[in-house]
Amino acid sequence: MKILVINSGSSSIKFQLLSMVDEAVLASGLVERIGEEEGLIKCTFMPDTVDEQVVKNGEVIADHNSGMRLAVDLLTDPDQGVIADRNDISAIGHRVVHGGEDFHQPTIITDEVMAAIEKNVPLAPLHNPANIDGIRVAQELFEGVPQVAVFDTAFHQTIPAHAYHYAIPYELYEKERIRRYGFHGTSHKFVASECAQLMGKPLENLNVITIHLGNGCSMTAVKNGQSIDTTLGLTPLEGLVMGTRSGDVDPAIHAFLARNCGMTIGEIDTLLNKESGMKGLCGLNDMRDIHDAIAAGDERAKLALEVQTYRNKKYIGAYMAALGRVDAIVFTAGIGENDEIVRAKTVAGLEPFGIVMDMEANDQRIKKPTLLSVADSKIQIWGIPTNEELAIARESQALQQG
Ligand code: ADP
Repeated sequence: MKILVINSGSSSIKFQLLSMVDEAVLASGLVERIGEEEGLIKCTFMPDTVDEQVVKNGEVIADHNSGMRLAVDLLTDPDQGVIADRNDISAIGHRVVHGGEDFHQPTIITDEVMAAIEKNVPLAPLHNPANIDGIRVAQELFEGVPQVAVFDTAFHQTIPAHAYHYAIPYELYEKERIRRYGFHGTSHKFVASECAQLMGKPLENLNVITIHLGNGCSMTAVKNGQSIDTTLGLTPLEGLVMGTRSGDVDPAIHAFLARNCGMTIGEIDTLLNKESGMKGLCGLNDMRDIHDAIAAGDERAKLALEVQTYRNKKYIGAYMAALGRVDAIVFTAGIGENDEIVRAKTVAGLEPFGIVMDMEANDQRIKKPTLLSVADSKIQIWGIPTNEELAIARESQALQQG
């Protein structure tokens, strides 16, 4: 039983093939630069045991259709032996960014489901069309194989109305569906359930604050296993300070920039999504470069780190208030798993609230779930690697089995 997981972006397609007998990754790859002059495909077979990558570049990859065909050619290459027959694939799981209010769960893709994903394009104009392209090609290449959509927004559909409404005219919610949706749901759900297992508690009784810090960053308050609030909103811009995204700003910044700097809405959107966050503050958006710059005495890089970790801390406080009882805080994703300085600064000063980090345990890159708090910390701190592909594969398998 093999599951193919596809994450189709605007100019790239990530793919992973898993054997669900033992959840081993059989192949993991990326088709990049779709539509550019020189396409690029990278794929590692048996990545848990081999580092060697098969790389093909130079060929123009005109669109998602040809990108996916090339990926499938690689996966079905008899020399690699990971897919002998396309019927070996029992389901294909697709990451779909925006399910709007239509999807609370992963779902088998039917014509109605496709229509609903299309209906939600205005909410994710860059992502949903790329996801739709990926699904269409997979349907063509793997006729008859169940296709499953796993939505980034689905886990957050349990957020109550008082937390998802913005205080703007109600008609804008009714007509335009403007509300908080939240993203990274697959990751938050995955690490919350891992945390429940690690703590020996049923997920239904677990209250946890999950902190996903990657290129995009978000925090979720999980009460009794369900999302009750999250920092990303209508779009993946709100909340925490990210690599190039501002997170929370005064919404009047838009009007100020338009009036005083003559900027268009499009320019402001680009500014807040691509030129802000850590990059806006110090010119760098990779945390490794930021730490190097701080070590070399760069004051702006130092400020950027303070702004980011202060925002993290502020939201932990907010979510402690929203949850009442908190059992654990979980750090995950690129920064959450690898950056001990960001983790330490995020929870520094929270000791009076029962959050006490074990500095020695924290001083490492997290390769497997690791307890980062001292034994008598009232609220445990965990580093738990996220695995969105595995989560999507598990959901797809469960649905395909009915
Ligand atoms: P994405 O959101 O694209 O999935 P990731 O979760 O992979 O991103 O996170 C990528 C980010 O993680 C990088 O931009 C970098 O800031 C950070 N990161 C990765 N490795 C390290 C490391 N060893 N130390 C500090 N930060 C790291």
